[in-house]
Amino acid sequence: MSTITNVIKSPIKGRTGTLNRSSGYEYRDFWYTDASGQRIHVVGWHRAIDITTLGTVVAIERGKVISVQKGIPGQTTSPSGGNSVLLEHGNGSRSLYCHLDNGSNNHINIGQIVQQGEELGTDTIKTTGNSTGLHLHFGIYVDGEYIDPTPYLQGIKSLQPYIINTPKPTEIIHVVVSGDTLWAIAKRYLGDGNRYPEIVKYNNIANPNVIFNGQKIKIPNSDLSEPTIDRYVVKKGDTLSSIAKRYGTTWQQLYEKNKNIIGSNPNIIKPGQELII
Ligand SMILES: [Zn+2]
Repeated sequence: MSTITNVIKSPIKGRTGTLNRSSGYEYRDFWYTDASGQRIHVVGWHRAIDITTLGTVVAIERGKVISVQKGIPGQTTSPSGGNSVLLEHGNGSRSLYCHLDNGSNNHINIGQIVQQGEELGTDTIKTTGNSTGLHLHFGIYVDGEYIDPTPYLQGIKSLQPYIINTPKPTEIIHVVVSGDTLWAIAKRYLGDGNRYPEIVKYNNIANPNVIFNGQKIKIPNSDLSEPTIDRYVVKKGDTLSSIAKRYGTTWQQLYEKNKNIIGSNPNIIKPGQELII
């Protein structure tokens, strides 16, 4: 029995200081007698740690349930993990929780997302699987193999949380306001003003030079990017009109956005001023 100190994220609820480790990540070769009197030989690499601290078992990081075993009433050699939960985290990493009390993980199902600290089950009543007595068998799987989980409990290493992908919208709608041009809309949503013909085609716009206030323009999402804020640093000889022309907008619209930088006279802009386009 050894102690793991400085447990930052614990698989046992409420235990963030120390944990008792009855087996480490090590090669083992021993016999034990299970509840039915059967002699069982445990031999091989123990690619996890056994934590004897009893209590509520929780997810060490946000994860997606990719395997769950329920309904194992007690000691058995197969499934060796007894009642168990396997979570997937970011970058394909996983965490494994075995020998849970029968019935304690009935609320866990494949595909479910569990948050860090969320209850997976308990290990307080009766051990299950190939186990000598009440304990949590806790494994961490990174880069294709089970490794020593201890540094993950000490905060030396950490798992990435499971990434929940939010589906992209198929398209978004831009409502035309005064001063908009298709070039500026393409620049804003597609990252390149010269791609405005894609928007023309997508919306069957007859004359690209004529769009009107309140017109709804659909933006195809093939590679929709977040609207970007462009900045332009004023150079000698620039005027608001010349900058506006360059970015497919009007000097009035530029001035409106940059009043607090330019001041009361739109005819005077100074080299070095940073304007929002
Ligand atoms: Zn174990």
